[in-house]
Amino acid sequence: MGTSPNCLKCKARVGTRFHCLWECAIIQSLWKEVCANISTAIGQQVTENPLMCLLRYIPVSLVQHEHVIQSLLILARKSIMLRWVAAEPPFLYGSRSSLKL
Ligand SMILES: [Zn+2]
Repeated sequence: MGTSPNCLKCKARVGTRFHCLWECAIIQSLWKEVCANISTAIGQQVTENPLMCLLRYIPVSLVQHEHVIQSLLILARKSIMLRWVAAEPPFLYGSRSSLKL
């Protein structure tokens, strides 16, 4: 039985690390929702980009909200990691018990 190199979520593209963390349409919808939630929380428009979401770079225009942004992004990254090898999309922020809050 061979193993497919494709993404476990969309099954349409090769599952490179960047695809699985960012490019995958299923993961992109999570990032859009996270950034919409961040925008609501800080009252300022935040657009999703891999530098901020994956690499923790906060643009100068958002630095005053860095703690809130980083906190929500950590939860989103953890949600993705909790379902890393699952076919199902990650739950946004996971469940309370899975995050050990
Ligand atoms: Zn995919």
